[in-house]
Amino acid sequence: MFIGHYAIGLSGKQIDKRPSLGTMFMAVQWLDLVWPVLVLAGVEKVSIDPGNTVLTPLNFEYYPWSHSMLMAIAWGALFGLVYYARTKNSRGAWLLLFLVFSHWILDWITHRPDLQWTPFSEARTGLGLWNHKWAEIAIETGLFLIGIFIYIKVTRAKYSSGNWSLWALVIFLLAIHFMNAFGDPPPNVEIVAWMGLSQWLLVAWGYWIDSVRRERRVVSSES
Ligand SMILES: [Zn+2]
Repeated sequence: MFIGHYAIGLSGKQIDKRPSLGTMFMAVQWLDLVWPVLVLAGVEKVSIDPGNTVLTPLNFEYYPWSHSMLMAIAWGALFGLVYYARTKNSRGAWLLLFLVFSHWILDWITHRPDLQWTPFSEARTGLGLWNHKWAEIAIETGLFLIGIFIYIKVTRAKYSSGNWSLWALVIFLLAIHFMNAFGDPPPNVEIVAWMGLSQWLLVAWGYWIDSVRRERRVVSSES
């Protein structure tokens, strides 16, 4: 999954409007932001194997420190704690813990059984939605549209940049989603890792969008 994770980040505003959209994006993609660092360091292993599942040419050989269920909970707890230490916002901290863990749930639905439960056991799990091309594309695109709908329901533009920064991101993410589904496999693992790291730009984009939009206030009916 790719834009499905961003959909969950966009929906987070419904639960708590205080964390920036950039923080929500960082949370939902945290496991995929840690992963390329570990791949480049040689700790985790991925290879390019067209046909590994119908939708992805990546063979995730070993990635328990970024992507086991246990570590997803641990990363979520750490993320929530750091946020709480900085803001004293416990609702936001719990939300961010869940957003980090939601990445694992969505990956569990999409990946073939290559996700370890813990780094200390070999047993692996994964429901393999990536083997059902059109179902995956439909579900992920649908999730993304729902996420955008929720985000524009709870926030509105402060300046005109609040609108075009958001719609540019939507178009950009949809373009990458369809390129992932229909494009050629990446040439090598280093490029995959660097593409993964480039998602920090999407986090920065999230902070920018958040700074040029504001919460929609519900107009009180009392007079
Ligand atoms: Zn992932």
